[in-house]
Parts: sequence; structure tokens; C-alpha cells
Amino acid sequence: MKRVRRRLIAGNWKMNAGARDAGPLALAVARAAEGMDRVDVVVAPPLVAIAAVADVLEAAGSNVRVAGQNMSDQPKGAFTGEVSGEMLRAWGATWVILGHSERRQLLGETDLLVARKTAAAMTTGPRPIVCVGETLAEREAGSTLDVVERQLRAVMGALASQPGFAAVAYEPVWAIGTGKVASPEEAEDVHARIRELLATASTELAERTCLLYGGSVNGDNAAALLAQPDIDGALGGGASLDPASFGAILAAAQRSSAGDA
Ligand code: PEP
Repeated sequence: MKRVRRRLIAGNWKMNAGARDAGPLALAVARAAEGMDRVDVVVAPPLVAIAAVADVLEAAGSNVRVAGQNMSDQPKGAFTGEVSGEMLRAWGATWVILGHSERRQLLGETDLLVARKTAAAMTTGPRPIVCVGETLAEREAGSTLDVVERQLRAVMGALASQPGFAAVAYEPVWAIGTGKVASPEEAEDVHARIRELLATASTELAERTCLLYGGSVNGDNAAALLAQPDIDGALGGGASLDPASFGAILAAAQRSSAGDA
């Protein structure tokens, strides 16, 4: 299948780089992203720094976009500690990461809640990056594809409402923050299955949905992952806090995009 999707590299800062450090880090990412005209670059700072990062990037004339790391499935009201999609957008976020495995595992987010958040984001924005992926026990039990299929099916209806608006990130939980990256072939197997499943909703959905790989991506392994036919981009955690490392992933994406058109 010819690639009609642009490359997308997103950095999840998690609970790092708060109000004080976020601006300088965002500026360093903006510098690393200069000239990367075939790659969409996104950073996801912690909530308290979203507005500041968006302002800093806009003032610098950067194309780097800002993402939230989570949002409520509700538009407003008595939901202490939550933030709505509209609020994220008002701060300048154009993307939001949903269903990250840390939220599924540590905070008990279910497929149903992730589906509701995805539906809300598809309606109000920001554009969702929906994370799916199996744990080590699930991989060892041979149920990787079943788990990913279950997680994806929960959000497919929402994704199909606007093909290409959302991205999906395959992040094997055992590869997140561990330095154990999935091999390009292992990752491609799952990405190809995700695209096949999307095609059961519509060909347009399959062709236009950007599929990211996440899990210990760095400047050394990015090129081989991005060379796979169904891996359109990456979601990085640790590497996104180091502008040189993140810049190396961006450069790999820019190079790999040369053969896409
Ligand atoms: C992540 O948390 O989404 C992630 C991919 O982290 P890391 O790159 O550090 O494995």
C-alpha cells in the first residue's frame, strides 16, 4: 500500500519538565525540528506547561505542535482534577495522547473509558493519539494480537467517524521505558494487523490513519522501525526529554519519508 500519510513523531514528556523546564526544552525541540519539512512533530508536556509551551513555540515560529497527555470524556462539570478537550485546545494543544498504558495500568483506565475519551476527542478535538499494546505476560501467552484487537475495536467506531483525524500508537508495554525495543519485524506484524482491522471499517480509515510505534525508540533504532511499511511514525518517552536524541529520531523520520511519495 502506497504511503499517503505524513510522518508523525511525538514526544511524551510524562510527569517531567514542568513549568520551569518546559520552555527551554520546547525551544530545543523547535531547533531540532527546523528543516524537518516532511515530518509532523508533537510534544506532550505535563498539563501545567501546555499553555507555556504552546506560547513559546508560537513565538519562535515553530511548526512543532503541542499535545495533552490525557483528557476527560466529559465536556465540563463536576469532575475534580479533570480537563476537557475544549480546555486543552484553548491552551493551544492540537493533539492528545489517550489510553497510554501507564494510565491503563496505574490508573485503571478501561477500554470503555478510552473509547469514551476517544469519541469526545473526535468530536471536540484535540486530535487523539490512541495507545494500544500488550503486557509482557500477554505477549508470552501468545495473545498480543488479541489484546491489540480488543483495544482497537473499542475505539474503531470513533476513529471511523473522521478518517485520518486520529493516530494510533502501538506501544508494547514491555518495551516502554525498559530499553527493550520490539524488533522492526515484531512491530510491523502488529502494525499490519492494526491496519487490516482499520480496513474492516473502511479503506480510507486504513490508508489515512497514521500508525506510530512506541517503546524505547531512540536515534539508533528509529530508522529500521520507520522503514517498515506500516510504521508511519514514533511516540517516544525517554528520548523526547533529550533534544539530541529526539532530534536524531526526527532526522530518521525525515530521511525515511524521502521514499514515501
Ligand atoms: C511512552 O511512554 O510512550 C514511551 C514510548 O516511553 P519510552 O520511549 O521511554 O519507552
